[in-house]
Amino acid sequence: MYILGIEATAHTFGAAVLAVSGTKKRILANVRDMYKTKQGGLIPVKLAEHHEAVCAAVLTKALAEARVTMQDIALIAVSNAPGLGHALKAGVIFARSLALLHKKPIVGVNHCIAHLEVASLITSARDPVLLYCSGANTQVIAYDGGKYRIFGETLDIGIGNFLDTFARKLGIGFPGGPIIETFAEKGAQLITLPYSVKGMDVAFSGILTYLERKVLGRYSREDICFSVQETVFAMLVEVAERAMAHCDKDELVLGGGVACNKRLQAMAQIMCEDRNARCFIPPNNLLLDNAAMIAWTGWLMHTKGGVSDDPRTLATHPYERTDDVRVTWR
Ligand code: AMP
Ligand code: MG
Repeated sequence: MYILGIEATAHTFGAAVLAVSGTKKRILANVRDMYKTKQGGLIPVKLAEHHEAVCAAVLTKALAEARVTMQDIALIAVSNAPGLGHALKAGVIFARSLALLHKKPIVGVNHCIAHLEVASLITSARDPVLLYCSGANTQVIAYDGGKYRIFGETLDIGIGNFLDTFARKLGIGFPGGPIIETFAEKGAQLITLPYSVKGMDVAFSGILTYLERKVLGRYSREDICFSVQETVFAMLVEVAERAMAHCDKDELVLGGGVACNKRLQAMAQIMCEDRNARCFIPPNNLLLDNAAMIAWTGWLMHTKGGVSDDPRTLATHPYERTDDVRVTWR
């Protein structure tokens, strides 16, 4: 069966077509169009305008790449939570219209859960802990007691926003994460920075203030970027490891744009090797926001969990937490 996925929780509008037959699954198309601004940051109204402008073209491209038509689609899955209200509305209204027009079942998907479920689409992972590191989100999520629970998270800003804000202060451009990574590769000296793990949670804004007041201008950009990466990624890997130990799980999966970082990937892999666990790192196009993970999660929810939403009323939930969702498909 063919599943159409629609993603629109933040900057990315995506459409994907997934084919599932027995145990075989194939991503036939995974198209995206990203809203960008020069300095970074998202203007909600403009974001919705972007999604409305590109949605038809992105869908057409996905269907053409997959060599299917709307008639072939058996299910529509759309990310309806959590995210920016304006973006979510654009995506959900588009998906609802398609479902009503073509008389297809529809299911609303939690975006964070989709980042976790994508591991089972492309790897043999069965029950992983997700280290989700994106611009706005930083969470450690795992299945326990009938729900996907958040075991640790940022207490202030997301890791990506931290890296981007710091890169702006350093004057090296936007988005900052990849540029910091390039500088860090040439760094050698580890500058001591605040290490801000609080219980199972992390915090970044204090590190940002420290960098501004005590570090900027006193060391090379290479050494600063190197030290920033070593410190904040160690914090993330530490809370992920503690969640794995606590839940007695031996699989880790990475998700989110920051997880494209090779140093973070290496640190996660070292941690997993040390505890005889397996580390799954999806390719970049599935780490970033994408509609293929929405299609896959929608298929799981619908066929394994019996979830079906009403296309006339399916709502958006900008603040939905993963543990608000009752998991019926495992
Ligand atoms: P997302 O919100 O998941 O789309 O991720 C966007 C964030 O990922 C931005 O803050 C980027 O700076 C960050 N990012 C992308 N590539 C890298 C990288 N190689 N290293 C660190 N951060 C990255
Ligand atoms: Mg995301």
